[in-house]
Amino acid sequence: MTDSNNQDSKKSLHFLEQIIEEDIRHNPDVITRFPPEPNGYLHIGHAKSICINFGLAKKYNGTCNLRFDDTNPTKEDIEFVNSIKEDVQWLGFMWDKELYASDYFEQLYDWACLLIKKGLAYVCHMTAQEISEHRGTPTIPGKESPYRNRSVEENLDLFARMRNGEFKEGACMLRAKIDMSSPNMHMRDPIMYRIRYAHHHKTGNAWCIYPMYDYAHGQSDFIEGITHSLCTLEFEVHRPLYDWFLEHIAEPSQQVPKQREFARLNLNYTVMSKRKLLQLVEEKHVQGWDDPRMPTISGLRRRGYTPESIRNFVDKVGVSKRENIIDVALLEHCVREDLNKKVPRVMAVMKPLKLIITNYPEHEKETLYGISNPEDPDSPKRAIPFSREIYIEQTDFMEDAPKKFFRLTPGGEVRLKYAYIIKCEDVIKDAEGNIIELHCTYDPLSKSGSGTEESKRKVKATIHWVSCSHAHTAEVRLYDRLFMVENPLDAEEGDDFLTHLNPNSLHIGSAYIEPSIADVPPGYMCQFERTGYFCTDKDSTQNHLIFNRTVELRDTWTKEQNK
Ligand code: ATP
Ligand code: MG
Repeated sequence: MTDSNNQDSKKSLHFLEQIIEEDIRHNPDVITRFPPEPNGYLHIGHAKSICINFGLAKKYNGTCNLRFDDTNPTKEDIEFVNSIKEDVQWLGFMWDKELYASDYFEQLYDWACLLIKKGLAYVCHMTAQEISEHRGTPTIPGKESPYRNRSVEENLDLFARMRNGEFKEGACMLRAKIDMSSPNMHMRDPIMYRIRYAHHHKTGNAWCIYPMYDYAHGQSDFIEGITHSLCTLEFEVHRPLYDWFLEHIAEPSQQVPKQREFARLNLNYTVMSKRKLLQLVEEKHVQGWDDPRMPTISGLRRRGYTPESIRNFVDKVGVSKRENIIDVALLEHCVREDLNKKVPRVMAVMKPLKLIITNYPEHEKETLYGISNPEDPDSPKRAIPFSREIYIEQTDFMEDAPKKFFRLTPGGEVRLKYAYIIKCEDVIKDAEGNIIELHCTYDPLSKSGSGTEESKRKVKATIHWVSCSHAHTAEVRLYDRLFMVENPLDAEEGDDFLTHLNPNSLHIGSAYIEPSIADVPPGYMCQFERTGYFCTDKDSTQNHLIFNRTVELRDTWTKEQNK
């Protein structure tokens, strides 16, 4: 490799890669972890963390654990554990070990006792509210707890009694004894343990004291030998505390993990906090965690997103320390780009207008062949039946058309995709003047691909269609953004994010589809030509086909970029 090449590849490394490349010069181990709390389903933001943690481990021949940060029994559930495992695998990653912070409860307890013995932790009887009142503000130092200076023996005894269930919830907590006047609020005697009489999905009723995130997280990293503990920027201010615990728990000779922070992924027109997503589910604003309008991995999957499209999206977003909001149009662009390469084309008509080809023999039908995917020369051809009566989209015909309307007009011509050039001869209306039928003629020599002069004749538009007698019907679910504003949380005071919900985020309609897809299984993906990408829903059956619209064909992202 030449010097300039070397520099180029260095430049293109993101800051976490640069840190790791520096670190592995001294120690080749790279062990990361993805540490979700099982209190909800994963969302697209988590996909970024997954791609970073698993991706870096893979790139540097290391390993990545899946660790459930299950220290808060009241909000956690095995349903969430299972969905998280499914989503990580679906995204294309496999963990080295499946681990649970709750498996470390005994060790964490012992280390808490160690801190007490070192005079670095104490049992405090103030209420949560008193503690927060004593904490001060970033500019005003906090006040010390009256319980701060009790003896080691007394603290050990009280902490053991906390564990034994001798106190009520909220009666006392274990706090680290650090510095009530630290400019970093997280260092002002943070809570390490609180009492919770709750059933834990793994430890059952074995414990009634549970460690706080800040105490459990770094120590779990340490137990697992994590080398790079990668998390989002909001934890940057927790880092001194992360380091403080390890400094006092690990032996000086032991290697401790280092926390590094990167910017969260934010997306417009949606919310991404699990708490908010849970509210949407519980209050039935959506049909579940995997509702195709949700920004969850399972929602995107059900909507027809591919793992590749999500990984590409995360890649394009990049890794940095700068917070920003990503346009959802970029996510849509990524799925379009991927599906364009992969999925077959089919014809479906959603707002049908009947069209009769008057010079086509009454009972005749023929089979035409369409290429499944023009992006993939090896894709098989599909058979498309053609006959005298077909459906076209209402929007492909206009009676009094402006000049720029190139589709079908009275007396005008269009090509029927894979078929013939037709000419509109007559517009049939009902008594109220509504158009109910078009009468057209076709040019039998103009068949697509037949090689005749007529087949090469240029007409202004090619439209899609389905043969009436061969068409099958399907339910189609057209999704729009879940929220009407870019940032539903950036609301006026007292303004609830729910008021920004889009009342028209789901439109259920129907379509006539070509018979080649009449019996596809759930999860089948295709492009409805000229319309968008669709996939069959998990509830779709052969008797009742249901297609979800993944994304429209129209690409607003590319348009914006080319402006
Ligand atoms: P939420 O705020 O949505 O509930 P969380 O941070 O509480 O998310 P965790 O289950 O604790 O969710 O997150 C697991 C990992 O995923 C953490 O390391 C966290 O930093 C990361 N993560 C969460 N949200 C995002 C996001 N929007 N972008 C990137 N990483 C994220
Ligand atoms: Mg969390």
